[in-house]
This record gives sequence, structure tokens and C-alpha cells, in this order.
Amino acid sequence: MSRIRPLAASVVNQIAAGEVIERPASVVKELLENSLDALATRIEVDVESGGIEAIRIVDDGEGIHPDDLPLAVASHATSKLATAEDLFRVHTLGFRGEALASIASVSRMRIRTRRADALAGVEVEIDRGTLGTPQPCGCPPGTQIEIRQLFHNTPVRRKFLRTPATELGYVAEQFTRIALAHPRLHATLRHNGKIVHELPATDRLLDRLHLFHGAELAEDLIEVESEAPGVRLWGYVAHPRHSKSTRKGQHIFLNGRCIQDRALQHALGEAYRGLLMVGRFPIAFLFLEMPPESVDVNVHPTKAEVRFLDGQQPYRQLLSTLRTRFLGLDLDGTMRVPVAAGARSTSSGTGTLELSPPRVDPERQRQLLNEFADWAKDVTQAWRTNAPGDERPLVDPRKSPEELLQSPRWSARTDSPDEPAGDDSPRRAADGERESTAESDADEFGAGQIGAFDDFGPSRAMQVHDCYLVVETGDGLTVIDQHALHERILYEHLRRRVLEGAVESQRLLVPETVELGTREAAALAEHRDLLAQLGLSVEEFGGGTVLLTAYPPMLARADRAQLVRDVAEKLDSPAQPTRRDLLDELLHMMSCKGAIKSGQKLSPEEMSSLLAQRHLVNDAHHCPHGRPTALVLSRNELDRQFGRLG
Ligand code: ADP
Ligand code: MG
Repeated sequence: MSRIRPLAASVVNQIAAGEVIERPASVVKELLENSLDALATRIEVDVESGGIEAIRIVDDGEGIHPDDLPLAVASHATSKLATAEDLFRVHTLGFRGEALASIASVSRMRIRTRRADALAGVEVEIDRGTLGTPQPCGCPPGTQIEIRQLFHNTPVRRKFLRTPATELGYVAEQFTRIALAHPRLHATLRHNGKIVHELPATDRLLDRLHLFHGAELAEDLIEVESEAPGVRLWGYVAHPRHSKSTRKGQHIFLNGRCIQDRALQHALGEAYRGLLMVGRFPIAFLFLEMPPESVDVNVHPTKAEVRFLDGQQPYRQLLSTLRTRFLGLDLDGTMRVPVAAGARSTSSGTGTLELSPPRVDPERQRQLLNEFADWAKDVTQAWRTNAPGDERPLVDPRKSPEELLQSPRWSARTDSPDEPAGDDSPRRAADGERESTAESDADEFGAGQIGAFDDFGPSRAMQVHDCYLVVETGDGLTVIDQHALHERILYEHLRRRVLEGAVESQRLLVPETVELGTREAAALAEHRDLLAQLGLSVEEFGGGTVLLTAYPPMLARADRAQLVRDVAEKLDSPAQPTRRDLLDELLHMMSCKGAIKSGQKLSPEEMSSLLAQRHLVNDAHHCPHGRPTALVLSRNELDRQFGRLG
């Protein structure tokens, strides 16, 4: 082994750069933080090729003293700390004195700066860490820093960079975070000379949220605020009708710094417990203000993680502030179901699902449904008592549901008095026509009853609790989860089409605009052909907005904007799954979104067509998530329960 020797400053800086400067966005973050620490009120950020070619930041801050220029780009040199104790009362965003040195060691940098009291500015170039001779120059008060050819001397790092559009997405995300934390800052972001964001200074955070996240979310934000000794918490959280499939909608700022804190994220999740579906995450913009002495920000090189002196305090405060606020709002009562495309909507743009017109007295219908529900409960109960320990009481243990469903007895109703053989009543029922015999059945069993199963022969079904279809079969009855079955049908259909390369796609006459973060928009653009394979066409519109121009018809009833947002989030995940996994995941996502929801009332025609498609799927008894789509109660079992068998 060789002997030990100290590393050259340039190597030390490159190692440091490895920790903090991962991509152009990290440069933008560090430079923006420096400008804010220099009390800038106006910052312009210009990037070329996603920042890979050039990044320029111009601020109107205090400027750097000309004599300090060599120190500004030296490592461990800072104007923000003097003693070790200062480290425990950091009130600036930077304090490590490392960023400029690190960036300068892996790029070509030019600094122009002028303090307000100086007559002229000074300019200096730094090439891979080597400082040139400072020259006088003309420039307004403030600092301009230009970075070119990032990572040109570290080819491995450069190779890890993604497309300019994706890198721009990361840049925009950093820009957005800082702009949210500092609404009074006038901030501009340009890419290749074109404006991405132009944000005038404002006193209202809500204005920024409106700009970045669109009116739909901004109007559904709930303001929160609370004060306890040593902690002030304020900000906005989204109504539970808005949520995300990842934690990416959660912004937590501590003293103007965007932080990642698992405990606080957990508190946020707890506050929404019971208000969101499993797997969905709340959206929040929360600001904590605490005395600098009560937090240690020197935990992680990128300063994204912090350590609280008393972590319990902010956790409890966040949880109780949100919980108390939610209690006062009666959120459950105002929860709205997303509008299916084509459904009637109210003037506010949201509304309830279209209900199929009732064919019998709704009061009577409700009564019958309740009676049925009670009966079903009793039967289940009885089964449980007779078969203790059986956790799947409604499944006939002797036969697989598949077997039962495929069995010819499914259609064995030749002895049925009201459905003579050869009768085409299902089709007529589907057309809304009914024979008098069928009519009387409708009166007896409620409006949901239909003829179904063109392929299995006539059978009868009714919807209960807007969630399950109960189907009379030749061999007993089957309870079907409407969402799970439909999801499975759509999944199989779409998968087959994708494999054949023949997904139907329907062009929108008026493209649907979807507001996303710039990063998500870039991720969508990067995966355009993958999306095309799924029948989705999206075009970039700029400023984080995309246009959905075509979609597969199976998504006709889905909230397509939400789907595009979820897909974008998935595509933007740092995990970088293989194309195959991604495709499969998107198939699942699309079939789930496209499927009838539970809680949705179905018209007899809809029920009929859903049941008629059942045989098309390979695995009709499980949804793509593996949950069962159908439970079977056999005639035999019914007879046994009611003591009709010997
Ligand atoms: P840190 O921010 O941790 O102090 P940096 O390497 O980021 O370390 O910056 C080094 C020093 O350069 C800062 O302490 C500050 O004095 C000066 N500086 C950097 N950027 C600016 C700026 N935009 N305006 C004024 N001073 C700046
Ligand atoms: Mg800094």
C-alpha cells in the first residue's frame, strides 16, 4: 500500500462536490440559497439545456467584497459563521462554506459582483477550481454567477445526467420550493431564453400556490395555523379529495428551508387517517418557525434533513393542529365523489355521479335492499357459526369460483317459469324493454334487477350498496365486487391490446390541459412512446402544463387529469423501473382508474354489459391486485342453511 498523503484542495473539493452537487438542480439550489442569504429581493435564473450547458443566476443582493472573491470559492470559507457555537444558531440557508468551491471544481465559473457602495463591479473566472485574475467590470449592484460545462472534468457524473427536459424538471422543482418558501422574492426562471416561471413578489403564499398548482387545488386548500412556545406552525393542507400516490405533494419548510422529515411526514399521514384511501398521501404546504437554537441543521451535506432538540413538540403540534382543524370542518360530510367524464356536473366543476333514473319507488327500493342486506348478513353469520374458523364463509370450499362460474349449471334455468328457453330477454332488458313477467320481478326485487349473461344464458342480478352485484345463478348466487371485476376486465383487455400493439386511442376534440410540476411534465415527455403504446398522447405545453390529446376509450369514465398526474408521478420516480414493469404498473393504474367505482350506482344496462363481459377475462375471480372479484354461495349451501336438505 502507498504512504498516506494529504489530498490536493482540488480533489477535496471534487469529493465535496460529489456529496452536494449531483445535477444542475443542486447548483441552482445552492446559488439560490446564496442569493437569499445575501438578502436579494429579485433573482433571475437562466438555464441552457436543462442546466447541463449553462446556469446563470443574477441577484440584487449585497454583493461580495472584491477582496473576498478568492475566499468565496475556497472551501470551508464563509461569511455566515464565525465560531463553533454559531453552528447551533444558524439563521442563514448556507453555513458550510463549501458550495461555491465544490461547484467551481467541476465546472467553469464566472462571478461578477458589486456591492451597493462600490463604484464599479469586479469579475473573475474560475476554471476547474483555478482562480483567474479579478478584473473591474460594469454591473448593477448584486451578484451574477455563471456556470458552464458542469461536470466536464468528471465524465462519470456527466454520464449520469438525464435528458435536458428531465434536468430542467429537477431545476424547476428546486426553484419552485424556494419560491414557495419566499413569496416576497421576485423570481424568474428561463430555459433556453424562454420563460418557465415569472413570479412577481407577493405577500400571499396562496398566490404562489395558485400559480404552481392551479386553481383547482388552490381553492381546496385549508388554512392552518397554531402557536406554541418555541414553535409557530402555519400554511395550507389540501382537502382530502386531493391526494397523491407518493409523498411528493408534501412540502415542509423549517425557517425558510425545505426539509425532509420522516417524523413530520408521519404526523401528517396520521392527521389524515381515515380521510384518505390506503396508498394515497395528503398534499400539504406547511411552515414551521422555530428559534435556530432548537434545531441542528448540520446533519446532512445538502441540509435537507434536520434534527430537532425536542422532536415530540413539532410532531404533536402538527398532528393536533390539523386534527382540530379537520374536526371543525366535517370533512366526511363534504367529501365529493370525482365526476366521471360525461356525467352531469354542477357549476362548481365538481358534482355527484349521475344516477340512473329509478324505476320503482325509491323508498320501496331502499327497504328491499336493506332487507336483502340483513338477509345476506344472517346467512353469512349462520355459515360462520357452522364453519368456525373459516375466514372465507361465502366461498364454496369444494369448488373454485372459476369452476362454479364456468359450470354449465350457471345457465341451467330451463325450469324457470318466467324465462322460457330461447327467450332473448337479456338483450331486451339491456335495451330497456321488459316483458310483463320481467316487470313484475322488478317490482318484487327492486329496480336493480336485470337480465344478464348473454353468453351464459339468462340470469338475474341486482346491485346492493352501490358496490356489489348479486347474481342469481343456476347453482346458487354470486356476489360480485363491481369495481374489482371491471378493473380486471379492463386490465385483461388493455394488456391484450398492448401486446398486439393495437390499443384503441380516441382523440380529444379539445385537448385536456393538466397542470403538473415541470419535473413530472418532463418525465411524461421522456416516456412519450411508452404512453403511446398505452393509447395516451400527451404534449408538452410549457410551464409544467401538458395537453392530453388522446386516450384509450376505456378511460372514458375516468378522471383523466388525475390519471395523467398519477402516471407522471410514477414515471418521475427515482427508482427507474424497467420498461416492462413500468408498462405493467401503468396498465394496473389505468384499469383501476377506468373502472366503475364502488359507490357508483349502475343502470341495468351497465350491469348487464359488465356481467356479459365477464367471460372475456382469464381470471375473472380476482382483480389485478389479487383481491377476489366474486364470492359464491351455492344453492346446496342455502338449502342446508335453511334446513331443506334431509
Ligand atoms: P456558504 O453559503 O455556506 O457560506 P458558499 O460556498 O455557498 O458557502 O458561499 C461562500 C461565500 O460566498 C458566502 O459565505 C457568501 O459570503 C459569498 N457569496 C456566495 N454567493 C453570494 C451571493 N450571491 N451574494 C453575496 N455573497 C455571496
Ligand atoms: Mg451557500
